[in-house]
Amino acid sequence: MEMNLYGYKCKKCGQLHYPYRMVCKKCKRNAHNEFDLVPLPKNGKLLTFTHLYTLPADFEVAKLTLGIVELENGIRVTGQVSIQNPHMGMQVKGKIEAVRQEGYDTNYGIVFYEV
Ligand SMILES: [Zn+2]
Repeated sequence: MEMNLYGYKCKKCGQLHYPYRMVCKKCKRNAHNEFDLVPLPKNGKLLTFTHLYTLPADFEVAKLTLGIVELENGIRVTGQVSIQNPHMGMQVKGKIEAVRQEGYDTNYGIVFYEV
C-alpha cells in the first residue's frame, strides 16, 4: 500500500496547512482543531537544499541531503533528497518511506527523487 502525506484543511475557510497548526493562519477563527485531512501531491519543485555531514551517530550514512520542495498545490515541505547532483528549480518526485530505524520503531518521512 502506498502511503500519503497529508495536509490539514480548515473546515471554516478551506485554507490548507502543512504541517499541522492549532489555529488557522488565514481566518484565525478556527481555534477548535476543525481540520480535514487531505492527501497532498508528492511531486513538485526543489526550492533549495543542504548537505548534512555531521549527523547523530546512529545514522548509518555518511551524509544526508535535506531540501524544501514546493508541491504542485503550492504547499512547501521539508524532506530528504536522494539525488546525486541536485539543483534548485528541478522537478522532483516524492515517496513516503522509512527514513530511520530506532530499535523497533520505524520513522517515516518523505524522500524526493529525480523525475
Ligand atoms: Zn480558516
